[in-house]
Amino acid sequence: MPEPLARAAQLLARLPGVGEKTAQRFALFLATADEALPRELGQALAELRDHVRPCARCGNIAELAADGLATCAVCQDSRRDPRLLCVVGRVQDLLAIERSGAMRGRYFVLGRLLSPLEGVGAEELPIDALKERVRADQVAEVLVATPPSVDGEATALLIARELGPLGARVTRIASGVPHGGDLEFADQVTLGRAIEGRKSFG
Ligand SMILES: [Zn+2]
Repeated sequence: MPEPLARAAQLLARLPGVGEKTAQRFALFLATADEALPRELGQALAELRDHVRPCARCGNIAELAADGLATCAVCQDSRRDPRLLCVVGRVQDLLAIERSGAMRGRYFVLGRLLSPLEGVGAEELPIDALKERVRADQVAEVLVATPPSVDGEATALLIARELGPLGARVTRIASGVPHGGDLEFADQVTLGRAIEGRKSFG
């Protein structure tokens, strides 16, 4: 394989979810595709780090403004309720919740979850920044939307414990059966939680 092709494939293989074979296929495609595509792609990638930053307030992805500050679209939206704060582990989770259209408050992205097994302790989570945000915005409710996994639950418990003394109500997203899913195929934990977390009509 020509050296530039091998190098492109090596770099592509470092992307999440891209294996060696897929990376080779991408590199070959780009090497033989219409010339505009690899050039535009290269330019877009190079500009990414110059123009996109985590939002200074919440950690969501944001475009860097002329004043050198990055504030995301959610934080700029004055119709959002600043007293409802949704805590998520990753930006991808924030985007997924935004797609649901069900969140009318703002966000705080932790960046990582507590993981006793992988040795990620509480001191590696931005708990102080979260507390500061809750105080500064006089947040009334903190909705913890970390995933329903061992790490996600451990993180949620930590947040509930740390924020308790601040007076904000700490809530947790419900977990249940996926829409359109069959009860027969739901796992026991999910089905058990759906029953425990049942709600009245209306
Ligand atoms: Zn933001």
